[in-house]
Amino acid sequence: MNSDRLIDLIADETGFDREDPDQVLDSIVPGICRDPDCLSVQDNCEPDADHNYCPECGRNSVVAVTVLMGVI
Ligand SMILES: [Zn+2]
Repeated sequence: MNSDRLIDLIADETGFDREDPDQVLDSIVPGICRDPDCLSVQDNCEPDADHNYCPECGRNSVVAVTVLMGVI
């Protein structure tokens, strides 16, 4: 699954707007589990999170939306 699709999933679930600098540059941003069977959206990632713990599947596979966007 490519990054744009994951960003769309995050936007659908959280209302995240990638065009809004205030949301993109916040200290806490949404993220999503990369596991294709999980794809759980989390709303409390550090902007540079790349392997955060996923409470849904128990893997360290949550990536922040800002990492997906290439901001970080
Ligand atoms: Zn997961």
